[in-house]
Amino acid sequence: MENRHPLTGSHPTWHSITGEEALEQQESTLEGLSTQESQERLQKHGPNRIQQGQGRPWYRRLLDQFNNILMMILLVAALASFLLGHAIDAAAIVSVVVIITLIGFIQEGKAEQALESIRNMLSPQANVLRDGKRTTIAAEEVVPGDIVLIESGDRVPADLRLIEAHRFRTEEAALTGESVPVEKHIDAVESSADLAERHSMAFASTIVVQGNAHGLVVETGQHTEIGKISELLRRVEPIKTPLVKQLDRAGRVLAIFILGAAAFTALFGVIIHGRPPSEMFMAAVGLAVAAIPEGLPAIVTIGLALGVQSMARHNAIVRRLPAVETLGSISTIFSDKTGTLTRNEMTAQALWLGNKQYRVEGIDFVPDGDFHPMQRDGKRDTHSIDIEKDQILRDFLEVGVLCNDSELTKEEGHYYIQGDPTEGALVVAAAKGGIDARELRKHYKRLDAIPFESEHKYMATLHPSGDQHRILVKGAPDRLLEMCATESTLDGDVEIDYNQWEERIHDLSSQGLRVLAIADKLTSNVDKLEHHHVESGLRFLGIIGLLDPPRDEAIKAVKLCQQAGIRPVMITGDHASTALAIAKQLGFSQTEKAFTGRELESMSDKELEGIILDTDVFARVSPEHKLRLVQAVQACGGVCAMTGDGVNDGPALKRADVGVAMGIQGTEAAKDASEMVLADDNFATIVRAVEEGRKVYDNIRKTITFILPTNGAQGLAIMLAVLSGSILPITPLQALWVNMVVAITLGLALAFEEGENDLMQRSPRNPKAPLLDLFLLWRVVFVSLLLLAGVFSIFTWLLNQGGSEELARAGAVNMLVTGSAAYLINSRFLINSTLSISGIFGSRPVWISIALIMLLQFAFTYFPFMQFIFGSEALSLTHWLAILLGSIFIYLIIEAEKFLWSRHESHKKY
Ligand code: ATP
Repeated sequence: MENRHPLTGSHPTWHSITGEEALEQQESTLEGLSTQESQERLQKHGPNRIQQGQGRPWYRRLLDQFNNILMMILLVAALASFLLGHAIDAAAIVSVVVIITLIGFIQEGKAEQALESIRNMLSPQANVLRDGKRTTIAAEEVVPGDIVLIESGDRVPADLRLIEAHRFRTEEAALTGESVPVEKHIDAVESSADLAERHSMAFASTIVVQGNAHGLVVETGQHTEIGKISELLRRVEPIKTPLVKQLDRAGRVLAIFILGAAAFTALFGVIIHGRPPSEMFMAAVGLAVAAIPEGLPAIVTIGLALGVQSMARHNAIVRRLPAVETLGSISTIFSDKTGTLTRNEMTAQALWLGNKQYRVEGIDFVPDGDFHPMQRDGKRDTHSIDIEKDQILRDFLEVGVLCNDSELTKEEGHYYIQGDPTEGALVVAAAKGGIDARELRKHYKRLDAIPFESEHKYMATLHPSGDQHRILVKGAPDRLLEMCATESTLDGDVEIDYNQWEERIHDLSSQGLRVLAIADKLTSNVDKLEHHHVESGLRFLGIIGLLDPPRDEAIKAVKLCQQAGIRPVMITGDHASTALAIAKQLGFSQTEKAFTGRELESMSDKELEGIILDTDVFARVSPEHKLRLVQAVQACGGVCAMTGDGVNDGPALKRADVGVAMGIQGTEAAKDASEMVLADDNFATIVRAVEEGRKVYDNIRKTITFILPTNGAQGLAIMLAVLSGSILPITPLQALWVNMVVAITLGLALAFEEGENDLMQRSPRNPKAPLLDLFLLWRVVFVSLLLLAGVFSIFTWLLNQGGSEELARAGAVNMLVTGSAAYLINSRFLINSTLSISGIFGSRPVWISIALIMLLQFAFTYFPFMQFIFGSEALSLTHWLAILLGSIFIYLIIEAEKFLWSRHESHKKY
């Protein structure tokens, strides 16, 4: 098989030949390929993959490490030291530069890799016919000749010549830049037609916005139209989030300020104290190196990447990194009901046909169970019904199966539904009555169909019936009642009794059942179904109530939300009574009244803002209402997550602070518009992700509050020494060392911290609150001064004891590092006390990093070559004891400070 034209050898213009010709040229049939043939073609054509952007190449990542002020300063300092004759200093600076570069390079690489592998988890799927059967495969395995089934919301997996199309429209912005959907059909077009005019084709990576179609795959992978211009796809999401950028900016301002202070200090030393300029130059470099917290943005990125990984492990796949930050401040979660709050395992439980009520036995998709009549007083009747003798029931079940696209399959002893579970429940109910859906569908050919869409809330099909055509409709009962004129009873068709049916619908829905109605109509002059054919003059056949119990995890998650000050809000296409009943089972708090889509339409934006904060159920809602709900919450200052699965949910998902798409039920269009995808479609997963988001943000705040004082104390130590004309307690090279070892050990530890116990008992974070508020700034200054005091105390004590400058400096450096290590334990909780066994010893990462840094410090203090490079000297046991006591003292003072804060009401929330 070759994609070239057999006669001319050129690529055929697929759009200008007929579907049959295309099938012939691809050596395929309407039934698709066999599995074996598809394997062979896959071998031959390769996977259906478009080469994606590779991210930054490694050398760019390496070079980018030098693109910051600290590196510039270090390189200048190395050069200057060399020129001033300090070859050892220059070599030491260069080695530190190399180490810092490598660490940044490796860590960023890891973060990028982690994000990349998570992106790969979202690889798309495609529905194809293989061996004549509908099968879902990875889109990568699609081969030329495959017949692909696509419908509203799907992303087209390859270039397709359409074979069958119903009201089919695609949005081709990815390809042509045109965002107005294009109408597609199966007729051949001019061979000279532009891409945008090839209406007989659906192109890879465009999105289906309406209808459904069967298409023959004619090109895959790099040969598709989009593949040819795949440069466009090489855009890679930047790894920098707003938070990291904010830190970058703040860091730059701080760096300039520090450089100013360093220059001033050096000049002061030269002019006022008459110190040699070369020495003062090195002191200024030391001060700058010591005080600039350059490692921070990298550590924050790592924190975010860790958060993303952990969320992915819990089924929440973050598509855009900034969502991790936003999740922590979510105050409202708008959630779809079916499948997210409930299990989406629909089972038919009750029917009302004519004047008879039935009960159906059995649960799940297992087609075992009988039909029983219900008595007038609602009592159960134990007799089962022989369906062959109940023509009305049989006809109802048959219509339910014909106006339906789902299939019941049994694999390895398990039954499951392919397609929509709501429809699946009807197939299962029919199977309980002995009706085989496949056989029935073969017998009653379908001439046309209007697929179910949430806006219309019904589905309709057209079938031959004698010499007439019969339209079958199933949908939301209130919607169908509007479209019906008569109802079918045992005594023939009579005028419909709306009130009675409304009562029955209310009765079933207030038990929490999702209710579907079924109706039909005979017609003689309709060949192609349009909405206006269906929307009047129908005959009402009856209703069926489907049970879809709440997920157990969702009940727990709703409770957790309430403790965490987050309001879950149910948005459903279902009836208000069903929604309220399920909301009650889930434990929603304000479930007195549900507003419906119609009521929303009659409200102004202001009116909606008035009720939005007190309503947690919205029923009979269409996707376009969702956007207004999001806007209303945002207008009230809320931060919201919104779930969605359909193509029309796009605008609301984009507008929400965190758009959440369903991974299983969701369309590609919804995933595209969202920040996060739920691999398990589960509400509890959103709440878990919010918890993780809070934790990540908390850990970032902790990390910053931890790192800054180490920088502050070193900078101040050097500055004070120069300004007062005394010797430096820490040399520039030593400052460099401290910065490096703290950044690779202690600085990373807090990113791995577990969330604090009360994480989900706090109110959501105010999104406008600065990252470092006054409280944290105070903490930074306070601890900087504490560490500074520690450094000077040890330094002067050692000098006063007659120790050398080298010894005093070794003491000062170790005091600084050990004091920082003690402060690391304080920083595990910003306000809560760590004065307990679990507070002090509860974190493995903290202790591993402390152990590591102590090993490095021993090396620094005792290894002769380190002593030589850094000018340190061996300390005695007494010195270490003094340092240890100093550190414990620092730890306790900070705990005392926390205690005072925790009594201060306004900071309880931390
Ligand atoms: P939720 O918003 O809770 O996830 P949903 O999105 O499934 O619910 P819709 O799909 O809009 O809600 O369904 C609204 C109503 O349409 C249902 O209550 C049901 O009566 C009817 N309905 C649902 N699925 C179908 C279908 N496949 N065919 C016909 N009618 C349906």
